[in-house]
Amino acid sequence: MSKEFDELEEKEGLEETETEDTIKEGKEDTESKDNDYEDVCFMCRRPEHIAGKMFQLPNHICICNDCMHKTMDTVSQYDYQGMLNYPGMMMTADEFNKIQEQFPNISFMNLSDLHGHGGIPNKQKLKKKKTAEDGKKELPAIDIKKIPVPHKIKAQLDDYVVGQEQAKKIISVAVYNHYKRVATNTMDEIEIEKSNILMIGPTGCGKTYLVKTLAKLLDVPLAIADATSLTEAGYIGDDIESVLSKLLAAAGNDTEKAERGIVFIDEIDKIAKKKNTNSRDVSGESVQQGMLKLLEGAEVEVPVGANSKNAMVPLTTINTRNILFICGGAFPDLDEIIKQRLSKQTGIGFNADLKDRYDKEKNILKKVTVEDIKKFGMIPEFVGRLPIICTMEGLGKDMLVNILKEPKNAILKQYQKLLELDEVQLLFDDEALEAIAEKAIERDTGARALRAIIEEFMLDIMYEIPKDENIGTVTITREYIEGKGGPRIEIRSKAKSSSAAD
Ligand code: ADP
Repeated sequence: MSKEFDELEEKEGLEETETEDTIKEGKEDTESKDNDYEDVCFMCRRPEHIAGKMFQLPNHICICNDCMHKTMDTVSQYDYQGMLNYPGMMMTADEFNKIQEQFPNISFMNLSDLHGHGGIPNKQKLKKKKTAEDGKKELPAIDIKKIPVPHKIKAQLDDYVVGQEQAKKIISVAVYNHYKRVATNTMDEIEIEKSNILMIGPTGCGKTYLVKTLAKLLDVPLAIADATSLTEAGYIGDDIESVLSKLLAAAGNDTEKAERGIVFIDEIDKIAKKKNTNSRDVSGESVQQGMLKLLEGAEVEVPVGANSKNAMVPLTTINTRNILFICGGAFPDLDEIIKQRLSKQTGIGFNADLKDRYDKEKNILKKVTVEDIKKFGMIPEFVGRLPIICTMEGLGKDMLVNILKEPKNAILKQYQKLLELDEVQLLFDDEALEAIAEKAIERDTGARALRAIIEEFMLDIMYEIPKDENIGTVTITREYIEGKGGPRIEIRSKAKSSSAAD
């Protein structure tokens, strides 16, 4: 009996040391991770590179030199009836009771209760800046010889983005020039200007997708923000600087990396100047005004790990000079403005039939000028800071069919791969693809509708097929998409099916 008990005790002891070890390891792990981040002052929320070295208090609380001194100065103005005679407040229980008697209505607070364990979360801390020595070890992030040339960027984009040839070409050149400018950092007499881009195209034509693919290819951090959520500072909504907070988060709170990233601001047409309004336009024109300095390149104070500046959020400074801004929007009715201008330009008298001619023209957006965009409601200073305008076409039936099957990660390929794991071959009739494209056009949300439509009918396939091991091939037909029939199903060849039956 006692032997058993001893064994048990031994075991327990073992377990105890094991857990201690794991806790220790975990602690070291978080500590080493914490070391990558700068300290942030618990009181003024300034990071270490601004406020200087911090005093480390228990419970991971850091106080900067300034705040510590201010506190000391304030406290030393009063002698609190001898309280400060207790050096460092290291007092015995008796002494503590004495103080409590002196301040009967004041309860002493334990700072660690405020934030729990760990002080300020890493999300709100910045990565430490690299020292010159670290810099020597690492290669420069952007090497001029390594920036892919425009035709290579475009070739890579071609693998993912269908059509939009002109847009891909414009963006490849713009991005190449931008990073050349960043890499050379020449700020002599011939200053290369920033090449921010304005992207115009109907919804679902691949604006966001193009930018996402681009950022992935170039391996730079990307932040995607929605212009509709932005408001002038102080109003309900996100501050304009929050787009940079997102970029900073995408760069893993590494300021230097973020300063070379890409910011995509979607729905930019929604911040056009509101017409016929007397009230303050806090989410329209004011946002455009507020964005000017970001687009131009300036030192901007950015909240770390939050969407708006307030007393509890640490701030850091980001220089936007090398950040590429791409603004995208559908700009509804812009075609009308272009048509109006074009028909006005041609002689008087034939306007009616000339306007008809432009009505029939499909890619009227290509003829857009800065004047048209200003007329739409963008302020001149704003348009001026987006020197590259690229328009994207609405997607026709052929393009939608191509989007279904051509890109490297095409939706059909994804489903084929899923069913391949069940050893089932999934095929699509050309007619079926056309039917899907026709349905998508009806929904009028561009390529975004494709996935929704496919998901609707693939649900049944994905549910039913694994039931029967004999199914070898499933072919989706037009009739199935239109709800008039079922898919064509072929049974596995006999040899295979018999082995499956075994
Ligand atoms: P928007 O122009 O409204 O930003 P998105 O870029 O979000 O549209 O497109 C929605 C989805 O449609 C993308 O995730 C992508 O899968 C698909 N898509 C759109 N256009 C294309 C295209 N030209 N080539 C390949 N896929 C596309």
